[in-house]
Amino acid sequence: MRKVYADNAATTALDKRVLDDMMPYLTEIYGNPSSLYQTGAIAKEAVENAREKIAKLIGASSPLEIYFTSGGSEADNWAIKGICSALKAKGKNHIITSKFEHHAVLHTCQALEKDGFEVTYLDVYENGIVKVEDVKNAIKDTTALVTIMYANNEIGTIQPIEEIGRVCRENKVIFHTDAVQAVGNVEINVAEQNIDMLSLTGHKFHGPKGCGALYVRRGVRPDRLIDGGGQERTRRAGTENVAGIVGLASALELAISTMDERNARLTKMRDRLIDGLLKIERSRINGDRVKRLPGNVNMCFEGIEGESLLLKLDMAGISASSGSACTSGDLDPSHVLLSIGLPHEIAHGSMRLSFSDDNTEEDIDYILEQVPPIVDYLRMMSPLWEKIKNDERNN
Ligand SMILES: *Cc1c(COP(=O)(O)O)cnc(C)c1O
Repeated sequence: MRKVYADNAATTALDKRVLDDMMPYLTEIYGNPSSLYQTGAIAKEAVENAREKIAKLIGASSPLEIYFTSGGSEADNWAIKGICSALKAKGKNHIITSKFEHHAVLHTCQALEKDGFEVTYLDVYENGIVKVEDVKNAIKDTTALVTIMYANNEIGTIQPIEEIGRVCRENKVIFHTDAVQAVGNVEINVAEQNIDMLSLTGHKFHGPKGCGALYVRRGVRPDRLIDGGGQERTRRAGTENVAGIVGLASALELAISTMDERNARLTKMRDRLIDGLLKIERSRINGDRVKRLPGNVNMCFEGIEGESLLLKLDMAGISASSGSACTSGDLDPSHVLLSIGLPHEIAHGSMRLSFSDDNTEEDIDYILEQVPPIVDYLRMMSPLWEKIKNDERNN
């Protein structure tokens, strides 16, 4: 049976070339970067080379603006909690975010609400895009931070980051973006796009899991999240994940150097798949069709349960998701689909397919061949579908 991995927004396969670059640091070069002897010094050099590479690749003005973390969730937590804790004493107790952030941001904001912070959750409208004007109107004297994701992890919609950054800059408010889905997939330049802090993680672009980074513009000072040793210029304690850091930089370099060609190919595949799936009656595409990640397809099929669809797809060798990997397993419909105005019963019948370098046109052919009969089959057994059809006849 054909196997199609179409869940690259949840995680990607580690690139073999990246693994090769990491290997020495998992074997012979095991020294602690904080140690003075040779094997430690070589490890330290590898970490600093990676820092420099990443800084250049995202348009940072200095490697000192890059801090390594255990991934995207930690970077998000650190950015938000760190700034709020640093600015609380100055009377800043207000955060602006959006309704459809990743849980690493949403739950962090909710935790801060319990600590007395006020949080504004901006609407993302039917197209899944935040309005710059709304950000502007929400800023007040007490605003400590604006945190808006770069690209949504479920519906792939890309936000007007440069413009949001400009509004924040004009109002002297710090701007953080969770760019985990965007890094390696769209062109990013933190300086040109007015970004003060940016989260990224390696496993979303064929790097290793458990290694990410937070970009922090010079002059911006979040309080530290992890106390301990003097690593990361005393800002983030803990012996460095040397192999992970080397892999992170190597994967980012590969992703960016192949981006244009890949995006042209993926956009074509994505649009062909969307057009094909929209032929299924009572189906819809979620989020803006154009301002979305090249590899993201998110569809709803009325009258069926997303979970049943995913199980059937799995039996056909297709790995897909009903939303974020973190929420599958609970029965609440996705907060992202609810945020773009979908009613509960429709949000339940959703499917996300996300593609990477590893996918081919043949994968798309296979999905287009498999999905329609599965949807038909599930609808045949669905009381909800029967009701939809009855209502249709009576109208
Ligand atoms: C995957 C993801 C995260 C979490 O990153 P981890 O490295 O898994 O902690 C955060 N934000 C977004 C948008 C993501 O897609």
